[in-house]
Amino acid sequence: MTDAPARDTPLRIAVIGSGPAGFYAAGHLLGDSSERFDVDMFERLPTPWGLVRSGVAPDHPKIKSVTRIYERTAAHPRFRFFGNVTFGIHISREDLLARYHAIVYATGSPSDRSLGIPGEDLPGSHAATEFVGWYNGHPDHSNLEVDLLSASRALVIGNGNVALDIARMLVLAPSELAPTDTADHALDVLARSHVREVIVAGRRGPAQAAFTNPELRELGALSDADVVVDPAELDSALAVPDPDTELDASTRRNIEILRDYASTPPSGRPKRIVLRFLLSPTALLPDPRSVGEDGRLGAVELVRNRLVPAPGGGLRAEATEERETISAGLAFRAVGYRGIPLPGVPFDERAGTIPSDRGRVLDPSSGAPLPGEYVVGWIKRGPSGVIGTNKKDAQETVNAIFADLPSGDSPGSGATLAHVPETPDPTAVETLLRTRQPDLVTYAGWESIDRHERALGEPSGRPRVKLTRLDELLRVAASEQPSP
Ligand code: NAP
Repeated sequence: MTDAPARDTPLRIAVIGSGPAGFYAAGHLLGDSSERFDVDMFERLPTPWGLVRSGVAPDHPKIKSVTRIYERTAAHPRFRFFGNVTFGIHISREDLLARYHAIVYATGSPSDRSLGIPGEDLPGSHAATEFVGWYNGHPDHSNLEVDLLSASRALVIGNGNVALDIARMLVLAPSELAPTDTADHALDVLARSHVREVIVAGRRGPAQAAFTNPELRELGALSDADVVVDPAELDSALAVPDPDTELDASTRRNIEILRDYASTPPSGRPKRIVLRFLLSPTALLPDPRSVGEDGRLGAVELVRNRLVPAPGGGLRAEATEERETISAGLAFRAVGYRGIPLPGVPFDERAGTIPSDRGRVLDPSSGAPLPGEYVVGWIKRGPSGVIGTNKKDAQETVNAIFADLPSGDSPGSGATLAHVPETPDPTAVETLLRTRQPDLVTYAGWESIDRHERALGEPSGRPRVKLTRLDELLRVAASEQPSP
């Protein structure tokens, strides 16, 4: 380490991950009026925007339009994008600490939580991460085999917004899917789907469900599907008062919406979404007709729960003796996402996050902040909240960076001094990356992909037709990227 930088030397920040949290952090740093920061963003894919591109449901274009804010950040002269760069393969923590004053980890929660029950991996049983990635054209999931022809009923496990996204995507009419940027391979399979009923099962009741009001309400406006709620099951799931949620306006509104569904007779639409409560899956069972072949999913065994006080407050699900078997050839596990460890970076296995204090990464052995290492978004706080939640979260982390600036530069006094890199030379990073990753994608490369995809979508009135294979993305990125 060398001495602290001079007052007017830009501080170099590496942001790992280009989803909302990474972009809000970059935006806050570059919005700093004294223009102190250079921000380089590293992304595993050739494309930016994280879950806005590959998580937000394609029929929610308004939510996706948030990328306009990130585009403004990317246009800042002190911002650079390095895509197709994997942390731990093409660039390590040590490489970055030698070249940047601070690293901000913004890698989200790309994995799924598992249920830990038999049959979870049977063909026909999918994690939300892979199915959502598949319909959104994520290159990691574009080859997923999704068989929507062999099953007429699907079970979605979980009571969060991802469960509702999946249920909706499974019943949207071709006319509702047509104007979206759903990946072409998924449009084709969804158009031929034989799925007629989607059951969404929560282990607790409506007062504990994680749905937000607009997402629950929009189910009632689907052109091809009725929403079915059994009034008796709804009443029984609401029988135990929950002091934690009953005063919450959003919960009360959800319950009103569900009561509305329960009292509305089906209108004869060809498909239906059935919302069920107090059910936990205990096993995914193979279809007896497929045993000896690929052993495909045929049914899900569930146990009925009752709500009992949880030790830390609120209500938890407790299994009763009552069981139910639902025949279903498809199951989607939408029980939350999970962070994955980054090579050399502290990780809390239990929480699936990087341990931190208000954005400062903590050394697990001493509990003290690690100089120059920060974290933001889902990999900091876990997979909760909507896209906008990351704005405030990023501000907290950027405030910690400001507070840790060497004294004299700082609007506050920090717990740790800013880390000082040995070689803070901006050109050295790009040179190093190009030797390790010849297919480096810069922001110009992404803009080339963006233009190409938009042009493909234009004739059919779609926002874009996504390129879903890595080789295609790299070919188009290289077509207009300035050569090194
Ligand atoms: P989530 O909101 O945390 O919901 C997870 C659900 O899974 C909960 O109902 C949870 O029930 C249930 N669950 C967990 N473990 C389970 C188990 N072992 N068995 C049965 N059920 C289990 O997670 P998410 O749906 O993945 O969403 C992640 C975040 O993204 C959320 O903040 C969400 O709002 C956001 N999101 C927003 C939108 C939107 O704004 N349109 C769209 C998609 C996602 P318990 O409560 O009982 O644990």
